[in-house]
Amino acid sequence: MSDVRVRFCPSPTGNPHVGMVRTALFNWAYARHTGGTFIFRIEDTDTQRDSEQSYNDLLASLRWLGMDWDEGPEVGGPHGPYRQSQRMEIYADIAAQLLAAGHAYRCYCSQEELEERREAARAANKTPGYDGACRTLSDEQISGYEAEGRKPVIRMRMPDTDWTWNDLVRGDVTFAAEHVPDYVIVRATGEPLYTLTNPVDDVLMEVTHVLRGEDLLSSTPRQLALYDALLAIGVAKGARPMYGHLPYVMGEGNKKLSKRDPESSLMMYREEGYLPEGLINYLALLGWSFGDDIEFFSKEQMAERFDVARVNANPARFDLKKCTAINAEWMRALDPEDLAQRLIPYLKSEGVLTADPTDVQLATLRAAVPHVQERMETLKQGVAMTAFLFYGDAGSPAFSVDPDEAAKVLTDDARPVIQEAMNALNAVGEWTTEAIEEALRVALIDGLGLKPKLAFGPVRVAVTGRRVSPPLFESLEILGRERALSRLQLALA
Ligand code: GLU
Ligand code: ZN
Repeated sequence: MSDVRVRFCPSPTGNPHVGMVRTALFNWAYARHTGGTFIFRIEDTDTQRDSEQSYNDLLASLRWLGMDWDEGPEVGGPHGPYRQSQRMEIYADIAAQLLAAGHAYRCYCSQEELEERREAARAANKTPGYDGACRTLSDEQISGYEAEGRKPVIRMRMPDTDWTWNDLVRGDVTFAAEHVPDYVIVRATGEPLYTLTNPVDDVLMEVTHVLRGEDLLSSTPRQLALYDALLAIGVAKGARPMYGHLPYVMGEGNKKLSKRDPESSLMMYREEGYLPEGLINYLALLGWSFGDDIEFFSKEQMAERFDVARVNANPARFDLKKCTAINAEWMRALDPEDLAQRLIPYLKSEGVLTADPTDVQLATLRAAVPHVQERMETLKQGVAMTAFLFYGDAGSPAFSVDPDEAAKVLTDDARPVIQEAMNALNAVGEWTTEAIEEALRVALIDGLGLKPKLAFGPVRVAVTGRRVSPPLFESLEILGRERALSRLQLALA
């Protein structure tokens, strides 16, 4: 065990997205690399936006991806609870201590007053932050505001200094004092804000390294200030955490990948049948590199090598094609039995199977997998390629040929081909791939004098329903003679 303590602390709003998961992954890898602790914290203090659905999705996503956490929901830990909604007294207590020690103060300004003064500052070419009006209110002023029924927010009193830290990714970063005005930590309703809860929990949970997205860069100086205040009142003990800001992820047209982009939804990958291994592998490349030109690696291999110093500060580009190609590589690398097992839930969710496969169906799937493993990029594609083997089984949909394919391939010209194929297949002795191939070649290529495409195309569409299928002769063998012949018969009719 090392002292390294990192955290992943999403807010449960909306669907988990890839930017979020990339952050989780880098923290996880850093914890595993150092033998440190990976904390999973839920920042659910915004009752308007947070949802239980999103909370459950987050947990399910990390579990699906195999990123185990050492402290957090469901596993507990010495610094719990790990849901901020259950830590409200802690934040109220700290806010009170900060007020008492003068690190924070009550601000009674109304939205209109603040806006007016910001306007004026802009007009005078000054940076339009909070102007500190309520820093030194007299008791009289305060009771006046209270009598008016104003409800104060709580603001941090920012020291008049510039803020510099050595960012683990970006090197020295500085914010000038004027860009970090006194900021709100508790709303007028008493609700604590992210600006308070996040650094407070980092302190209480003894976080040593904060790795998070670049969009949070500007909150770091505020958190440093809050950290110093917590140190002054004896809540914080050790050194400030180190901060590292992971690069932006860019999508199409070199725009920041947005939560609303379809390729940013983690659920999409799961539904389409990406493997968790493939997705993680790709996400690892968004800002980090394994080295030695290696782009195919597991998360355990990543953890072995992971070093924040090798995170690239330049924006990373999200490329769905590359993500899919890496996934396909993982599909090919799987043990065929493993792949067969992973296809089963998708065969069910796609409605090809309505229950767990029978022994016969499992044998069929196992026989088919080696012939399709090289050709599919996702599990869903694997379902499309193998579904024809199960249509017509008890509980599964009836077999039918895609009407477009039928119109193109099963024309009147195809009749004699199908008829000949039936005759030949009827006469095959032992039903093996080799015997089937031999019989069809003799009958259709030698006998009818057809080119392979015209000979086998109609047979393929008739028995698999599609023009793109696993290899034909193998497919026929796996399908069995009876079913193959009845599908050819159906095509004739
Ligand atoms: N709850 C914050 C978010 O979702 C956490 C940011 C951080 O890592 O500090 O953006
Ligand atoms: Zn004020």
